[in-house]
Amino acid sequence: ILEARNVTKRFGGLVAVSDVSFDVTEHEVMGIIGPNGSGKSTMINMISGSFAPSSGSIRLRGAELAGKPAHKVARLGVGRTFQLVRLLPELSVIENVMAGAAFGHRRRWGHEAEHFARSLLERLGLGQATGMPVSALTYIDTKRVELARALAGDPKVLLLDEWLAGLNPTELSTGIALIRSLREEGRTIILVEHVMDAIRSLCDRCVVMSSGAKIAEGTPAEVLSDREVIRAYLGDGD
Ligand code: ATP
Ligand code: MG
Repeated sequence: ILEARNVTKRFGGLVAVSDVSFDVTEHEVMGIIGPNGSGKSTMINMISGSFAPSSGSIRLRGAELAGKPAHKVARLGVGRTFQLVRLLPELSVIENVMAGAAFGHRRRWGHEAEHFARSLLERLGLGQATGMPVSALTYIDTKRVELARALAGDPKVLLLDEWLAGLNPTELSTGIALIRSLREEGRTIILVEHVMDAIRSLCDRCVVMSSGAKIAEGTPAEVLSDREVIRAYLGDGD
C-alpha cells in the first residue's frame, strides 16, 4: 500500500535519512527501529508531508506523497501521532478529535464528526473527558487524544512515532493491547518504537535504521538477532 524508494533527507550538511527504500503491505504493522538520531522521525515526517524528501519517492497506492503538504497527505490517507504530542491547546478533547475528522481521508463534519469522535474517545477510555480542555489532561491522555484524532480521519496508513514512550508499566500494557486491537481490525500501521516488547509482540516486520541508512529488514526475531543491528544499538548510536 505504501512504497518508499531511495528516500534521502539532508538538513544542510547532515544526511538524516540516506537512500532508504521499503514497502508496507496493507493490514501489516511495520516497525521502524534504530538508535536515537538514526532518522526514524525524519522518515515518518517525510511520509506525513511535514518535510519534503531531498530526493526519492513515497507512494501511497500509487499516488506520490513526496513534496505534498501535510494536509494533502492526510487527505490521501495518512494519519499520524507525533513524538512530542501536538494538540490544539485552546480546544477541548472532542474538538481536537473532530479537527482530525474534518481534515482526514474521509471527511466528516458537524454531527457526524461529533458522533464519530465520541465513539473513538469511548474506545480509548476517554468517554468521560470529551468536554475537558486538553491542557487539563495527563500525559497518557494527551497521547490517547492524539491517537483518536489520527483515527478520526479514517487513515489508510497510521504512523505512530513512539506512541508508547514515557508510559508507566500499566499504561504500557494497555497501550500495547490497544495497538494490537487496531492491528486485529486490519489497520496498516508504521510503528516507530524503542520498546522491545512492543516491537516483538506487534510488528509483522521491521526496518532497522542506523545513522540514516536502512541496515536490516525482517521479522522482529530476525532483526533483533542480527549482529549488525545489535552493534548499531550498542555502538555508534548518537
Ligand atoms: P529518536 O529515537 O531520538 O527520536 P530519530 O531516529 O527519530 O531519533 P531523527 O529525529 O529523525 O531521529 O533525527 C535524525 C537526525 O536528523 C538527527 O541527527 C537530528 O538531529 C537531525 N534532524 C532531525 N530533524 C531536523 C531538523 N528539522 N533540522 C535539522 N536536523 C534535524
Ligand atoms: Mg524520533
